[in-house]
Amino acid sequence: MAAGELPPPVCGEYDVVVCGAGPAGAAAAIAAGRLGRRVLLADMQSQVGGLIASYGIGTFGDSPGGPIFDELIERLQAIGAAHLLENPERYYPPGRWRCGTAATSAVLLEMLREAGVELLLMTVAESAWLADGAVAGVTIVNKAGRSLVRARVVIDCTADADIAASAGTPFVQGDPEDGRIQQSAFRAGIEGVDAGRLPPPQELEALCRAAVASGQITPPDAIFGIHAECFPFSRQSGALELGAWELRGIDPTDPCQTTEALAQCQLAALQIVRFLRERVPGGESARLTRFPAAPGTRESRRIVGRYTVTREDVLSGAKFDDGVTPAWFFLDLHDPPPGTSTPFALEFVQQNRPRPGDWYEIPYRCLLPIEPPGLLVAGRCISCDRPAQGSLRVIPTCIFLGHAAGTAAARAIEADVHPHELDGVALKREVMGDWRP
Ligand SMILES: Cc1cc2nc3c(=O)[nH]c(=O)nc-3n(C[C@H](O)[C@H](O)[C@H](O)COP(=O)(O)OP(=O)(O)OC[C@H]3O[C@@H](n4cnc5c(N)ncnc54)[C@H](O)[C@@H]3O)c2cc1C
Repeated sequence: MAAGELPPPVCGEYDVVVCGAGPAGAAAAIAAGRLGRRVLLADMQSQVGGLIASYGIGTFGDSPGGPIFDELIERLQAIGAAHLLENPERYYPPGRWRCGTAATSAVLLEMLREAGVELLLMTVAESAWLADGAVAGVTIVNKAGRSLVRARVVIDCTADADIAASAGTPFVQGDPEDGRIQQSAFRAGIEGVDAGRLPPPQELEALCRAAVASGQITPPDAIFGIHAECFPFSRQSGALELGAWELRGIDPTDPCQTTEALAQCQLAALQIVRFLRERVPGGESARLTRFPAAPGTRESRRIVGRYTVTREDVLSGAKFDDGVTPAWFFLDLHDPPPGTSTPFALEFVQQNRPRPGDWYEIPYRCLLPIEPPGLLVAGRCISCDRPAQGSLRVIPTCIFLGHAAGTAAARAIEADVHPHELDGVALKREVMGDWRP
């Protein structure tokens, strides 16, 4: 907000306002709420869970877990909504968790309510509100209009560092050499297909190629690789999923680019359903049933914080006195050429993660923007280099980062200091507790 501009009406005063209710934001709010703070959590979507809910990410990358993540899994297991995927060569133990996305969203909501967190869905956190050079609230926009929420600490968990960027926090985006960013993804659900009568994959691919060549299907401009001319379908008992189209060069902070890419993908999915109905045996009754509620963004702004966790830190298993989040996922960068991308060979996975039995730690300083005070950042937009972001962006790690940020906010308020004045060593002791990787 520009200097001298009048603030909108105040609609609330909180100890902590968390912007974005994804894995990081939900955990931050739960942690601060459990420490007795008055917390508001705002998200522009209609469910909590971030990409879990809006894109349907149901696999939680192999990680050491953490107190809030372990509790989430325990609650999901109790309702039959989580099972372990083991693959000892590829995943560090215990493995990856496959979880119901709606169930995860609902369980997170339950944990938020139990922690006394107030929630505002369908609410955009617009920008930081500064007073005396420090963040002292956020302006929000929703159906009730535009208003100001005052806060002693604001935690930016928007995944795009929207609030930090509005507060003047320096940030970087993309590859330092050429600005390229990780592929984003799109998928669509198709039902009514008689999977038993579908042609074998290679034949179906050839039909797709012919439909593209004849102009019946117009692939989105941003799509590349094999997806550009033959569309991968995953078959699940009568339902087809147009599996994860990879899109390059989409800047998630540019609404025009994102809108155009989404529109092209959605129209191509419609054409594919017509093609299935007209040209493909078994596809005569195909129906387009589902789009994700948000784009599948992997990479966006990364703040410049008081420490930047690097590729070398990940690979060497670096430990820090203020290391508040342990992690061991590999450098999973879905990078357009000349970068690396899926499918990652086993050897690549094994060479691009800490040694077996080891882990790296993310320092508290990565959650602290260089400026201004009063602000914390958690989730995939913390201070890290690009390769490290490929590792730490997985859901369990974002949950742990949120836990650390929420705890830090609560303790800073208790001590009447700004978050950057907090003792990171004591914070590490508190968030880790008896828990060990
Ligand atoms: C295609 C794809 C596949 C993936 N696969 C896996 C996988 O298999 N395993 C795994 O562990 N991870 C996976 N990930 C990564 C993981 O989903 C994300 O990195 C993780 O969800 C990031 O958590 P977050 O809390 O930082 O952000 P998000 O999950 O993106 O949540 C951010 C939240 O902030 C809200 N928000 C944003 N801006 C605003 C605003 N201005 N005001 C209000 N609300 C706002 C959004 O609505 C959202 O709810 C995948 C990601 C993608 C895109």
